[in-house]
Amino acid sequence: MSIDLIDAAQGAMLGTMVGDALGMPAEGLSQQALKEKFGRLDSFREGSLPPGEFTDDSEMTISLCEALVQNGEFDLQATAHSLAHNFTPWRGYSPHVYGIMARIRQGMDWTSPGTSSWGSGAATRVAPIGVLYADDPEVAEHAAAQAQITHTHPNGIAGTVAQAIAVSQLTVAGLFESTVAIDELLERLLEPISEHSVAMVDALERIRDLRPPDNPEQLSGTIARVFSCDGSAVGTVPAALAAFLLSNSFEEAVIAAVNCGGDTDTLGAMTGGLAGAFYGMKAIPERLTTGLANDKRGRDFAISLGEKLGALTRKRSGKRLEVE
Ligand SMILES: [Mg+2]
Repeated sequence: MSIDLIDAAQGAMLGTMVGDALGMPAEGLSQQALKEKFGRLDSFREGSLPPGEFTDDSEMTISLCEALVQNGEFDLQATAHSLAHNFTPWRGYSPHVYGIMARIRQGMDWTSPGTSSWGSGAATRVAPIGVLYADDPEVAEHAAAQAQITHTHPNGIAGTVAQAIAVSQLTVAGLFESTVAIDELLERLLEPISEHSVAMVDALERIRDLRPPDNPEQLSGTIARVFSCDGSAVGTVPAALAAFLLSNSFEEAVIAAVNCGGDTDTLGAMTGGLAGAFYGMKAIPERLTTGLANDKRGRDFAISLGEKLGALTRKRSGKRLEVE
């Protein structure tokens, strides 16, 4: 495989947005209701937002990435302020986030927000930390720290750590390998997660029993039978990882994820972050990038942030991640 760190970083950013925008119109629908409404959801369709528009998941990912790029490393205060400063209420944020963002914007103490969310939001936005701390054990600590801004429940934190380590491992794997060893990747995730949540460990372990179906179109059904795919971190993080691990391309992975039903924009965003980091931006089909929303902080902005993130990752990792 011939991708470099810039391609991987841009892939993680754009992949998140593509998966998010693909899943947006089906958010909250059961798998059956999704089928009845869209057939197979494999292109940008209108939903609560216009076709190709992305949601809170991508907005937070972009804000987090911007804070990393501006600071050159993870900084909790800078991340919190970037999330709050760029918060657009109509992008479909979870209700508990509104109060937190308001407190940060008003300069009030937000470090004990008083909510203990087990939701998936902190995991959905964490991909840029996975890229920047590729092959670096610090990834788990920074991922958990940024989760505390909005998701303090152990399952929310565990999902965030799992997603961040997975992205970091896949960023490195994509530089050198064309396939991923499932058991090896799971082993890397389970120990750091076990200190946060047994429920997340159990859910991730279930991936081992899954086999890719003969027909890729059946993968969504395979995943939805095993994982709840709801708005929880336990219901989405392992499902998104399964969609990536049991498929063979960026497109196959994100389309399998969004057709699971449930929290489809989140599933698409997470899977897009994983698959984008591994396959790189150039592997994302043009039909899925051209239709993506491209306002001031949209597609092109995310691509340029990805380029800066990749360059920073290269600088941080020294020669370790250089490919001959
Ligand atoms: Mg969303």
